[in-house]
Order: sequence, then structure tokens, then C-alpha cells
Amino acid sequence: MPTSRPTVNKSVFGASRECAAKGWFTKHVRPSRPLDAGARMRSEQGNLVGARARLLFPDGILISTSTRQDEVAETARLMNDGQVQTLFEPCFKAGDFIARADILTREDDGWHLIEVKSGTQLKTEYIQDVAYTATVARLTDIRLARVSLMILNKEYLLGDPLDSQFATLDVTAEVETLIPEFRAMMDGLPEILCRDSPPDATISPVCRNCEFFQSDCVGKEIIHPIFDLPRITKQQCGALLRSGWKSILDVSSSRLINQRQKDVLKSVKKGKMVVNGARLRDLLGQVKWPVYYLDFESLTVAMPFYPEVRPYEQVLTQYSLHVFAGPGEQQRHSEYLADPARDCREELAEVLLRDLEEKGSVVVYSHFEKTILEALAIRFPGIADRVEAVLARLFDLRQVFGSAIYHPEFRGSESIKYTLPALTDMTYEDLNLKNGQEAVAAFLELANGGLEHEVFQQRRKDLLDYCARDTLAMVRLHHVAMDILERHS
Ligand code: SF4
Repeated sequence: MPTSRPTVNKSVFGASRECAAKGWFTKHVRPSRPLDAGARMRSEQGNLVGARARLLFPDGILISTSTRQDEVAETARLMNDGQVQTLFEPCFKAGDFIARADILTREDDGWHLIEVKSGTQLKTEYIQDVAYTATVARLTDIRLARVSLMILNKEYLLGDPLDSQFATLDVTAEVETLIPEFRAMMDGLPEILCRDSPPDATISPVCRNCEFFQSDCVGKEIIHPIFDLPRITKQQCGALLRSGWKSILDVSSSRLINQRQKDVLKSVKKGKMVVNGARLRDLLGQVKWPVYYLDFESLTVAMPFYPEVRPYEQVLTQYSLHVFAGPGEQQRHSEYLADPARDCREELAEVLLRDLEEKGSVVVYSHFEKTILEALAIRFPGIADRVEAVLARLFDLRQVFGSAIYHPEFRGSESIKYTLPALTDMTYEDLNLKNGQEAVAAFLELANGGLEHEVFQQRRKDLLDYCARDTLAMVRLHHVAMDILERHS
């Protein structure tokens, strides 16, 4: 599988810094895996932000040739041309290492390297990213005078002047500190990446968030890894691994730090559901009929679509509402999907408040709906009192599956992704949109415009079907929980 000499890019280098095996998998396994909807959307948003940042340098020249080799040559040629002031996406290669900068602009004492990021806050990973680019640039003898990160200004509103959309932060000192470490690490890395198989890997707390853990690496044979213990701390994780315990099945109950972890251990060891009857009774007793099962979808993007919207502001675009008078007694289903050409939040809120009437629990499955409702009350003070009344009726069904019921197939999570298939035969498999990220991407497609009428209508239907399935999933899970309580009474 591996090539004779690997080309190391920023993502392979970054992964290798975390773990040598992760670098190998990133180089040899990740490229064959399709990006999920969320990753594709982040990448598209990143490209839009990058293109927008380039507008700040009207004299810039975009390096865009057919091969990486040509890009490197073209970068060198233009940098040697004393007339060229700014380059976009210049490419550098030093030995086996390749790096592409976002912006390189000439200053009196050398070049100013700028990395554009679509976040609104300075992050350590951003500094590490640009430090990699700076290290490769230095190895090619480029005289770097300054290194900066350009991030989004979180106070920017669509319609504000272009230069207020970004904040440029000088990170030269931080990057200079990292360059010697990066250069030292580069020495042995190509040899590791050349191998036919990944380097030996040992399970550690880092594996918890590693995309290769269960598919390719040390978690392949572990059915219930200790990372599935709810609210496991880094300290506890390290201590359990030092004891040689990789699976929950190995763990001694005395080493668990909360009741939920003990319930999980019991459930996994017995291979069946564990119910905390008192807690379940207490929680379900809080639900008042009629019940309004409510789910929201929103648009959250780096580049706002509507006036007066900030980067990453949650713009509510859709809801589904199933209303039940009592167990098994469906009264109606209501739904709303925004016109993507405009910000429909106020109109949506008015329709929703009417649909929610005045009595009965509003059942949701996360904190998300609460957060959105609170934001609506602030944005539209005229409806704040009515929104407050709805907030007082909210019941988060997720807590039932996070504290009163545990099934081994929950895999340490109370997300619908796990609870629904573990407890019901309902799935999302027959839908065109199968998760929230795909739903956001579909709405974004509508908002971007240019779709043919039939495609537009199909996407709308997909979105309505997806959101309706979310509320039906809540209906099913609530009814399952009621049945479980009845069996435990
Ligand atoms: S699962 Fe752990 S050891 Fe394997 S690649 Fe990921 S971080 Fe490295």
C-alpha cells in the first residue's frame, strides 16, 4: 500500500504529532474514505472564507496549476519576481514535506505568512497548523518576517465593511517556539510513513477521540471500550488504562466514580438493559399531557446568509411538532420550513407559539431547543413572555436515557443515534437525510440558490421528512420509556 517516499502534508504531520500510528492511518487510510456531510460543509465554508479574505489583497495572484510540482515551481518563480506583492495559496516543498499557505505578502524585511481560519477564536491547533507551513517555508530558505492568523470577527454582521469581517493576529513568537520541535520531528517521520503497516500502537486517553480507534487500530477488538463510561474523566481514563483495563467488562466497580457508570457496568456485564425505576418514575411523572414533541433544525455557518446575522449564529429554519392528547393518542402534526431566501425566524416563532398552545409538556431531546428559544426571546422582545411560558413547559427526554435507562447498545451515549435502534425498530435508513449534518447541508443547498424546481422541492420534502422523523422518534422513545416503567412497577 505505501509508496516508496511519502509526501507529508499538514494533516498527516499534525496527526503524527498526536500519535505516530494516527499519522500513518491519516496518510494511507483516510484518503479512501468519503467525507461526511459535516466535513464537506466545513470544507466548503472554509473555501468561502478563504476567498473572502483574499478580497482584502486586491493585488494578489492565485497560484493554480494542474500539478503540485507546478504549483511549487510557480510559487518560486513569482516570489523571485520583485514586482509581485501578494500570492494566494503558494506552495512550498522541502524534501518529503509539502505545505500550502493561504496568503503570502511581501514586506520590507521579508514575507508575511497568513493562514486564514474560519473560526472566531484563536485555537492552539491553528497556531500548530501555521507553524507547520512556516517550518516548511523556512526549510526552503524563504525569509519569513511575520506569521499571522486571520480569523473571523464574531461581531461581524452581514452587510458590515469587508475589513471588519476578519481579525488578524500576529503569532510569530508562538510559531518561532514551535519550529525547532517541528524540524526535529521531521527527521524520522518519512521512514515511519513509508512502512507497509502502521507502527505499533498502544491504547491511551488520546484514542478516545481518534477516528481510527475502532475501525483500524487498537479498539478493533474491544466491544465496550472504557471510553464509553459516561462522564469518564481524563484522569480516570488514564488510571483504568494503567491498570490494564481497556474494556468496561474488565473494570472493577470500586473504580467507578458515579452511579451512572455503575449502571453501565452492570448492564454491559449482564448484557441487558438496566433501569433505575425510582429515577424513571420521577422523570416521567414530570411530563404533563397533552404532550408536544418538538424538534428544531437551524442553519449555522461561518458566512452569514441574512442581514443582521453573525458568523455561526444559530438561525432557526424549521420545526416539527407531533401533538399527543395521551399515550398513543395522536392529535396532529404541524411543521414549518423557512423560505431559504430570507430570515424567517420571527414568522416561524409566531407560528410555533400558536401551534404550541398553552398547556402540556413540550418534549425535546437535547438542550438545543431551549438555547434556540432563549435566543428568540432576546432577539424578539415582543414575544419574550410567550417564549418564557414555553420554556417553563420544556421536558428534555434525553435525561431519561442518560440517567434512568441504560442498554448495552447505547454505547455510552444517550443520543437518539444509539437509543432509537437499541429500543425500537425505527430507523432513518429509508430517508434521504439521515442525520442533522445532512439536514444543515440540504438547507444550505436551498439557501445557495440555483437549484432546478424539482430538485428544490425534493430537498424541501427531504427536510420535512427528516425533522418529522426526529419528533416521531421522540414519540416512540417516550412510549417505550413508559412501557418500561410499567413493567418495573
Ligand atoms: S486509536 Fe490511538 S493508537 Fe490508534 S491511531 Fe488513534 S490515537 Fe493512535
